[in-house]
Amino acid sequence: MSAETAQSKDKKKVSRIFNANTGGDIVFRSSDNVLFYVHQKNLEFMSEGFPPTSHTSTSPTEIVPLTEASSTLELLFQYTYHQMPPDLDNLSFQDLMDLAEAAEKYVLHYARKSCLTQIKKFIPKYPLRILSFSGEHGHDELIYKVAPHLMALPLSKIAYTIPPSLYIPWSLCHDQLNSEIPLELATIIFKGVEKLQCKSYNDHDTYWHRKIKLWKQRVVDEGCPRSQLDTLLDSVDQAYLKNIKCCKEFIEWRDMFKNAVTVGIADLRYFVEKHKSIMGSKNINHSK
Ligand SMILES: [Zn+2]
Repeated sequence: MSAETAQSKDKKKVSRIFNANTGGDIVFRSSDNVLFYVHQKNLEFMSEGFPPTSHTSTSPTEIVPLTEASSTLELLFQYTYHQMPPDLDNLSFQDLMDLAEAAEKYVLHYARKSCLTQIKKFIPKYPLRILSFSGEHGHDELIYKVAPHLMALPLSKIAYTIPPSLYIPWSLCHDQLNSEIPLELATIIFKGVEKLQCKSYNDHDTYWHRKIKLWKQRVVDEGCPRSQLDTLLDSVDQAYLKNIKCCKEFIEWRDMFKNAVTVGIADLRYFVEKHKSIMGSKNINHSK
């Protein structure tokens, strides 16, 4: 009761979940002026980074200001209690990243793990922001997952987002992806392609062979970077890709083309391991 009186006097908003009635012995204030009553013991046990406080009274008066918004803290503090963690499924990307940054800052491992799981869902939509986050906090697995979405970008666009320790492997991986499809491979792929045909319709044949002629010109005559192949082959009308019975030969040839160019392409993880082994052996040579 006394706590409630104090609240109304101060006209301060108090968290719905972490209030005086739930018996917290430290009071935090969010950036938008909401108070959170949290048990110090839980913080000590579950996290490593909260501002230290010597206050242990059961009716605290000292208020510790935090820079996070109340919506973030409401989720974050739930990870300091032995209960089901909050459901993050419907969180917006921005709210999720705010929580993830706070979880990193205060070293709340369960919250970090939950956030990482959710962040993966946003990779196709926000790859650059996720690369920046994972680089800053050393989440290598997340970097490897997000890398394919950014690898074709010019280095000038992401040079300062790539973690410095990954710059060399990233550049080599990027270089490989932007190298031209080898002429020998292209020649094999287009060999005998004029014999492909649709089982039922002449106009399908006409359509596909016009496309293939264009693709051959781009890949064999002009030299097409591997990174542009998907865009090139995806320029086919989607309706034709659904003709799986009549246009089967063309569709299978196109799939084979995609696979043949992908085979032998190494991912970022490969270049990182290779870089480590080269640098490692260099160090050994230097020490001799
Ligand atoms: Zn057809």
